[in-house]
Amino acid sequence: MYIISACLLGTNCKYDGGSNATAWVKEFAAEHSICAVCPETLAGLLSPRDPCELVDGRVFTADGRDLTDAFTTGAENAYKVILDEALVREEKIEGAILKSNSPSCGCGTIYDGTFSHTTVSGDGVFAKILLDHGIRIITEKERIDD
Ligand code: SF4
Repeated sequence: MYIISACLLGTNCKYDGGSNATAWVKEFAAEHSICAVCPETLAGLLSPRDPCELVDGRVFTADGRDLTDAFTTGAENAYKVILDEALVREEKIEGAILKSNSPSCGCGTIYDGTFSHTTVSGDGVFAKILLDHGIRIITEKERIDD
């Protein structure tokens, strides 16, 4: 089973009310066992919502509201959903395809907190949980060869 950021499959859960639908990820999902999650939705956040970025491990809106607790709860909820799905399906988690640069799903690089589309090294809150559990991650900018 592969974990996929729901917005990459066309779910309108992005902060601006849209999605990040990505053709190759949708094709991949049609051919594999997948579990789509949006950690920010699972935090109880609505779409549209204020954009957020990570600064020194904490999550802020552009006007300085600290949403770290909500993002952490959402990431933990998403991880629980994945584990439950894997258990019910009796499948192992093969890896994850997550949205690049997101404060939740970004892996390797994330936006830097200046809301200027500038990236720095780092991982989103959800991606970090997966990495801590040894789950390999790629973003929609890469591809899984299998
Ligand atoms: S939290 Fe992840 S799945 Fe949800 S909209 Fe952001 S990047 Fe997409």
